[in-house]
Amino acid sequence: MPKRLSITFWATTFVIVVCASLVAIDGWRSWNARVQRLVDMERVTSNLARAMAQQADDTIKAADTSLTDIVERLETDGYGDAAVARLHRLMVEQAVNLPQLSGLFAYDETGRWLVNSRPEAQQPLLNNADREYFIYHQTHAGRGPHIGVPVRSRSTGQWIIPVSRRLNHADGRFGGVALATIDVDYFHRFYQSFDIGRHGAVALFSNDGVMLLRRPFNPDAVGASVRKSPVYLHYLAHNSGSDFFRSGQDGQLRFNSYLPLQHYPLFVTAALSKDEMLAEWRRDTWLHTLGVLLLALLLGLFGKRLVDQIRLRVRAEAELLQTRDALERLNSTLERQAMQDGLTGLANRRQLDVTLGNEFSRAMRHGEPLAFVMIDVDYFKQYNDRYGHGAGDDCLRALSTLIRTLTPKRPGDVTARYGGEELAVLLPHTDVDGAHAVAERIRAAIEALAMPHSGSPLGVVTVSAGVATIVPQRGVHLEGMLVAAADKALYAAKSAGRNRVCVAAEAALHS
Ligand code: GH3
Ligand code: MG
Ligand code: MG
Repeated sequence: MPKRLSITFWATTFVIVVCASLVAIDGWRSWNARVQRLVDMERVTSNLARAMAQQADDTIKAADTSLTDIVERLETDGYGDAAVARLHRLMVEQAVNLPQLSGLFAYDETGRWLVNSRPEAQQPLLNNADREYFIYHQTHAGRGPHIGVPVRSRSTGQWIIPVSRRLNHADGRFGGVALATIDVDYFHRFYQSFDIGRHGAVALFSNDGVMLLRRPFNPDAVGASVRKSPVYLHYLAHNSGSDFFRSGQDGQLRFNSYLPLQHYPLFVTAALSKDEMLAEWRRDTWLHTLGVLLLALLLGLFGKRLVDQIRLRVRAEAELLQTRDALERLNSTLERQAMQDGLTGLANRRQLDVTLGNEFSRAMRHGEPLAFVMIDVDYFKQYNDRYGHGAGDDCLRALSTLIRTLTPKRPGDVTARYGGEELAVLLPHTDVDGAHAVAERIRAAIEALAMPHSGSPLGVVTVSAGVATIVPQRGVHLEGMLVAAADKALYAAKSAGRNRVCVAAEAALHS
């Protein structure tokens, strides 16, 4: 059978399970909050990226539409004074209408300023043939828009993004460049309106991996290559998406969302600092964890006290049970001792008297016979004298053991040490013949034992027995009469030469 686990084991397990559950549940809650935070981060950054891409697309589209217009006019109307004057009016108007425009410009094939969107009619004698966009169109026949790296404007000193288209002569030769410059501030103001924390970053790149704009703005980073940055590599691989990247600019680990513009070869990224986004969560989790650990500690301490108390109680209970068992054992030993003869192990005189009283009454009620046999060792004084008192005791013990095996074991039968070397057998429901048979069996068995007794004329240990039987009647008989009659019969057996059984005469019971 499996061992039953103790109550203290279960109490300890319970306390541990409660504490562990508390910690586990809080841990799980914190982890979930973190996951939720990161999901929020993705939503925020991808929304930001979408808004930025849309804004960049719209801004450039508006400028580019003006450029298409200018190219169409110059190619149709030529570079004559009248045509240029008309174009100038259109450019001034466009520049006023489009707040993102810093300016609109047209250069001839040598890079000389043809016309621009400034209100004054006189063109400065400047040449932009050295500009990147000019060289680009000079060397590329493509008619699409070209978006350049931001530069400081030669005319205003502001940061601008050049968007340009090629002008062709009628025969397809390079005829100059139409340029729209977009105020970088226009983007910055838009980017500044986002809440991206202290360490967030948003940026605009060209598809070939050149940094155009960034918040926080860093003039040195403008035009820098990001071709080796993980975000660029991811952009090349996936076109749009989100992930954690460590910034090559400032080393911050950020969650980035990247997205291409719909119409232009550019892409945007919006990123939030992981540390910053999780700072609040971290503080929250610390406080929580501290509180929960404290609670678990208190619970644990309280639980330990409780378990200790239970253990003490269980131990006290066990001790109490042990004490009770010991007392019960002692009690039954004492009880037995009180009713038993120490030397022979037979019933003692007290038990004999009690049983005799009970059986006498019972026999009287039922009108049944009750027999009493008194046995006395022959020449025992001599036995002691010859063999010593100790040997006498041994002899008595041996006789008692034998007698016990020879007497019936029915309820009410008692074999007792009556006193000294006198033994008695009480036999309820037994008539004179039955009692005589028991006594005779005892006598014969003892004689057959043949224990040497040199002090006896018979040479061996023998006993004499007196038997008395009575059907007691109320008011006529007393227990003492039965004992006395047996005693008298014993005396008769002694007188008749010993080693014999005598039965009490009927008359002996009335004396
Ligand atoms: P009889 O045949 O007439 O009975 O002779 P007896 O010597 O046995 O005489 P009696 O019965 O009067 O003597 C009892 C003797 O038994 C006295 C005592 O020395 C001895 N005796 C009584 N009780 C004990 C006992 O517990 N142990 C021992 N060793 N001897 C006992
Ligand atoms: Mg005697
Ligand atoms: Mg005797």
